[in-house]
Amino acid sequence: MIWTPFKLQTRLLSLPISLLLAGTMANAEPPKLILPTENGGLLTGDFAGFYQYVHRDFEGQISQAWEGGQYGFVRNPRRIGSQIIYTRFHEGIDIRPLHRGPTGEPEDIIHAIANGTVVYTNPVAGSSNYGRYVVIEHHLDGFPYYSLYAHLNSITVNVGDSVNQGSPIAVMGHTGEGIDRERAHVHLELNLLLNSHFSDWFPGHHAADINRHGIYNGINLAGIDIGRFYLELQKNPSLTVAAFVQQGEPWFKVLVPISPRMDLTDRYSWLLEGQPDAPSCEMSFDRTGLPLKVTGSSEHVTQPTLTWVHSSPFPQHLQTRGLIRNHGSDYVLSEEGKRYISLVCGLQR
Ligand SMILES: [Zn+2]
Repeated sequence: MIWTPFKLQTRLLSLPISLLLAGTMANAEPPKLILPTENGGLLTGDFAGFYQYVHRDFEGQISQAWEGGQYGFVRNPRRIGSQIIYTRFHEGIDIRPLHRGPTGEPEDIIHAIANGTVVYTNPVAGSSNYGRYVVIEHHLDGFPYYSLYAHLNSITVNVGDSVNQGSPIAVMGHTGEGIDRERAHVHLELNLLLNSHFSDWFPGHHAADINRHGIYNGINLAGIDIGRFYLELQKNPSLTVAAFVQQGEPWFKVLVPISPRMDLTDRYSWLLEGQPDAPSCEMSFDRTGLPLKVTGSSEHVTQPTLTWVHSSPFPQHLQTRGLIRNHGSDYVLSEEGKRYISLVCGLQR
């Protein structure tokens, strides 16, 4: 399953010369992403064997739900009227171990999902909900994205290391919050970086906390639906992250003044639409807060203004991880929502 240039080379050289060019054309592109462990259940449809379960205690029924290991609003079910909605957002996927030692410790090796550079390691299990974690920067289709591997037992790379797709980087563990040996897994995310000025923004908005992780704090990383991205790549190997994100369902739009400290659209120019020198822009987000599109606007605003929200019969705060809330018959940005927008848009507030 793990692609190596060596294998490809060997295969190409065994082809007749006349086929070599065509073969190169067809085979030169490595898969955009590989899975980080030997567990390939996601791609064979064995979801229960792939996703690590969560303990669920709902209306008196206790279960071990593998669905809770997926990306998205997959946790904390609540019954509203006759319907059940899932209110807690999980920003990555939880992959089960295939190998355990004699005492039950997971032994799976974690591999880089694409070529890249190690930009962050947190070796101190207690200093993050992620436990020990690694962040790797990848340039996919020319844009920087960040894979994050969490709850590690040990880390075998250093910041600055170049890694190839498939290079070992760590050993699976169960460090961090809400996890034990039984539920050991690697939590994997693929992220956009929200703001390179994060370390300046943080103290004014999280006065009670200390930022120990620089710009690679989870608050500054917005995860795409990586589980579905793997499945879509199986059907269309040339699918870009940009095209995938742009398929997302808009949930709310905010008009914001342009700030010199907003650099999201410098990194991800594919988000931009319309006039680049406008005094403000309208940003579309999905319900997790992932930015989908940024459109220049000639309107003048001094603070973030909600311009549209996907209507819903359910309380908005339960569906948007608290970013939007109901206010009478209307919807407004919550304090959490304002704080999030100020980060994305580089506003001092
Ligand atoms: Zn997780």
